[in-house]
Amino acid sequence: MSTKYIFVTGGVASSLGKGIICASLGRLLVAQGLKVTIQKLDPYINVDPGTMNPYEHGEVYVTDDGAETDLDLGHYERFLDIQTSQTNNVTTGRIYYDVITKERQGAYLGKTVQVIPHITDEIQSHVLELGNSGEYDIVIVEIGGTVGDIESLPYIEAVRQLRYNVGRKNTLSIHLTLVPYLAAAGELKTKPTQHSVKTLSESGLQPDIIVCRSERELDNSIRNKVARFCNVDLEDVIASLDAKSIYEVPLLMKEEGLDKRVIEKLDLETKEYNLDNWIGFVEAVCDPSGEIEVALVGKYVEHHDSYKSIVEAFIHAGAVNDCKVKVRWVQSDDITKENAASKLEGVSGVLVAPGFGGRGIEGKLSAVEYARVNGVPFFGICLGMQCAVIEYARNVCGWKEANSTEFQSDSEYPIIDIMPDQKDIENMGGTMRLGKYACQLQEGSYSHLAYGEKLVYERHRHRYEVNNNLRYKLVEGGLSLVGMNPERDLVEIVEIPEHPWFVGVQFHPELKSTVNNPQPLFVDFVKASLKHAKSTDQYKPLKSTAKKKVAK
Ligand code: GLN
Repeated sequence: MSTKYIFVTGGVASSLGKGIICASLGRLLVAQGLKVTIQKLDPYINVDPGTMNPYEHGEVYVTDDGAETDLDLGHYERFLDIQTSQTNNVTTGRIYYDVITKERQGAYLGKTVQVIPHITDEIQSHVLELGNSGEYDIVIVEIGGTVGDIESLPYIEAVRQLRYNVGRKNTLSIHLTLVPYLAAAGELKTKPTQHSVKTLSESGLQPDIIVCRSERELDNSIRNKVARFCNVDLEDVIASLDAKSIYEVPLLMKEEGLDKRVIEKLDLETKEYNLDNWIGFVEAVCDPSGEIEVALVGKYVEHHDSYKSIVEAFIHAGAVNDCKVKVRWVQSDDITKENAASKLEGVSGVLVAPGFGGRGIEGKLSAVEYARVNGVPFFGICLGMQCAVIEYARNVCGWKEANSTEFQSDSEYPIIDIMPDQKDIENMGGTMRLGKYACQLQEGSYSHLAYGEKLVYERHRHRYEVNNNLRYKLVEGGLSLVGMNPERDLVEIVEIPEHPWFVGVQFHPELKSTVNNPQPLFVDFVKASLKHAKSTDQYKPLKSTAKKKVAK
């Protein structure tokens, strides 16, 4: 079977959840035995989101091969249980960069280089790269932005051409729109959808399926209107209502028949659904036995998308432990030594988040100290781990001036220091220690217990490390360096053995947590926090009288 392509565009408004719709459709197809991947095309001029501020773009998701990508790739991995790579995220910046590089090399043989055909051809070749790999039955292509945007035009045109180049029967166009409810009129309105489809059609792309996001049920007259005025069959109008959890969306899409229509139209051969694990997971998420609260200490907490994968990893780990993990968002700028206890009062675990730069560091150090001294389960990720090391060096080992050279370049005790191979790098984009590296675990450590194996691979995104020349001081003071990178002898995990659960990791474990494979350190951190909650009366039982119904 030749690879089929499903193009997903969005209209009317942004933030309708195109990524979740793509991931949900992908999950349903994977559950029927198909090999699927998802590619995100982003119409901005940054080569990748790696240089963007988290307030601007949310989390930067890192793949095994070290690509800094859009956070939607996180959804794809979490829903489909697949590995994505650099090829799965293409930006306008990347397309232009490649075209201009070729132009400088003389590859266009004296031609005038133009948006059409050169940019549109380059877009097509990036899409075909995944399809031509022979690894997938289906490539879902999510086109970022909203139809009608100036910057989306070359993508829509590339898709229009691709539909002919790979054969129309091998492609499908899905359009996601909004059907708003107007309270004053007391009805749902289809006009914005009609306009959006009209705009798309003017660019030569007619949708085969229309997914309508709406707050309210779409009755038959509304569905008929969309079908009639947008040139699709009635059963190709799919309603997507707000869900309790994003993980319920695949089940809701199955009820609406989205995957069924896709399979019929693309003439795909499928197996029986295998969704038992997914359904069990959704039930556990929607109807947990109890609740605990953990603190997420970071400096971008007003913008929850900055910590997307951490929040999702908590949902996965909560389901394993049959409890809801409620996140208390704590702004590190606001924490001081004096108020740490009141800011963190009642939480059963403390996670100190990744980040860059000196703002909020003293607050993070106070949060670490609070957790360390009071025996509250602690999880430090990347910068959070570096803070744990600094706090330990200062308050346990007695190096009061210990610091990271990221915050104090002339520190006398630079317990965290820039890696030697990072010292002369001037360019910011794509130059950190990025992607998958090995980590050897010490037998019997908390981390080893969590993973159940001694060699693990996790993803990185940082420039600084525990200083190998000074690390002896930490060991003397009782900090265990339980995870090491074997190739370069770098400290990847620190633990305090006497503490109920105190683990700091230099890598980003949250990036590899999926529904089917919840990340082991998150699972054990939640387990330890649950234990702490129960022993301190912080556990909140959530008794549901009747089993809540989950779509199947
Ligand atoms: N700023 C730190 C470094 O570059 C930590 C980075 C992070 O938390 N991802 O090493």
